[in-house]
Amino acid sequence: MSIAAVNIIGGGLSGAEAALSLADYGFKVNLFECRPGVMQGVFKTGGLCELVCSNSLGSLKPESAPGVLKSELSALGSHLIAAALEARVPGGQALCVDREKFSEIISAKIETNANINLMRREVLSLDEFETGSKVIIAAGPLCTPDFFNSLADKFSDNLYFYDAVSPIIDAGSVDMSRAFWKNRYSKGSDDYLNIALNKDEYFAFYNELIKAKTVPAREGEKEIYFESCMPIEELARRGEHTLRFGPMKPKGFDDPRTGRMPYALIQLRTENSLNSAFNIVGFQTKMTFGEQARVLALIPGLENVKILRYGVIHKNNYMYSPQLLNFNLSMKSAPDIFAAGQILGSEGYCEAIAGGKLAALNVVHSIKTGDNKSVLESIDYERTMMGSLFKYLILSGVAKKRFVPMNSNFGLVDTAKYPKETFHELSNEQILKLADLLKKY
Ligand SMILES: Cc1cc2nc3c(=O)[nH]c(=O)nc-3n(C[C@H](O)[C@H](O)[C@H](O)COP(=O)(O)OP(=O)(O)OC[C@H]3O[C@@H](n4cnc5c(N)ncnc54)[C@H](O)[C@@H]3O)c2cc1C
Repeated sequence: MSIAAVNIIGGGLSGAEAALSLADYGFKVNLFECRPGVMQGVFKTGGLCELVCSNSLGSLKPESAPGVLKSELSALGSHLIAAALEARVPGGQALCVDREKFSEIISAKIETNANINLMRREVLSLDEFETGSKVIIAAGPLCTPDFFNSLADKFSDNLYFYDAVSPIIDAGSVDMSRAFWKNRYSKGSDDYLNIALNKDEYFAFYNELIKAKTVPAREGEKEIYFESCMPIEELARRGEHTLRFGPMKPKGFDDPRTGRMPYALIQLRTENSLNSAFNIVGFQTKMTFGEQARVLALIPGLENVKILRYGVIHKNNYMYSPQLLNFNLSMKSAPDIFAAGQILGSEGYCEAIAGGKLAALNVVHSIKTGDNKSVLESIDYERTMMGSLFKYLILSGVAKKRFVPMNSNFGLVDTAKYPKETFHELSNEQILKLADLLKKY
């Protein structure tokens, strides 16, 4: 029996992982990507899997929540985690990548895969696909407006929130006499470039930051921020010391000028293998471009700062999954249509990859067996990070007004039953069992 190609809308993190995973099982895939013809929001290139903000995919520490998720993805044969490891640049315990190389590796894998037909065009509506054919919506938080609006009947409960991007600066414009390489608490190799501030320097910056002009919200849109991606000026307005307990935390460092802990500290993380650009850690912002240049130049060592990519603010779409989706990520109202990635309410690069992997495995399972269960149901999924995350996103029944994009974290796990310290061992056992079960396909 010949099986119709699976259609995937979006060649980002979730869509690319889904396409490559389906191709592994011998399925034909039509992968639709609207860039470079249609560029939404913060995208800059036509490359598949463009990372729109940080170049970090989070911690690799085996016992940390993001570390467990990465191990699970690797055990399930994630192509994107493999590509990230290949494109890795120094970042302490975090998996940081050269974003161009990362995108190039994945683009090459997709373009040369005989099972994948990459189509560079915008999908405007689900009506473009034959009834009964499998579709994965992986159009991301910056899904094109026409497509998003066309889903209005299915997404009647759509939500939105704002997210912000940190500026990237030219390494050559940093006064290196004011900066020093070190990791917090001197752990591991010295991958971060730091700038220590005394009290006067901190307040000179702080007092201008809270006054800086920002880009206003669009008419009719409320400003809702995801807590872990709060614009720095918003965070600063909460109190004059908030930054010193957040992105400007000085703990674990000595100021080379005094030998004592500085009043505040700024961390710069390398953006590429050449060390030619730095991301200012935790400085996502919605300040106007002019204000970003003015306010950042008040930081000692950044007086001549050259901003390569300005921070921006944008609308970020996602759906209320507890109401709309089955546990196998298919739509309750249309079980041949699946969702993957941030559009279903996950938050984070690896979480999007996990959504793509899971949607693909569930499509395979559904085509091979005719059953609409999630592959996670064949294991004790609460002992895995992936299972805990998708349980929250789909099954938790969390009220709409409290449903915020969620990343992998131990708050999703019953740690009284499954202690944090040994969770990675439990997860490994379950995921290996799942990988083994999937061999029958
Ligand atoms: C501004 C911003 C900053 C973020 N920063 C971080 C961060 O620093 N760290 C982190 O872990 N996570 C971050 N995220 C969250 C999230 O991890 C990323 O957005 C991630 O890329 C989501 O993966 P995805 O596959 O869901 O969507 P994407 O990777 O965005 O992929 C969706 C793809 O679909 C395409 N597309 C959209 N509509 C259509 C259409 N109608 N037809 C065809 N193609 C279409 C898009 O061009 C895109 O390539 C950020 C999100 C945003 C919006």
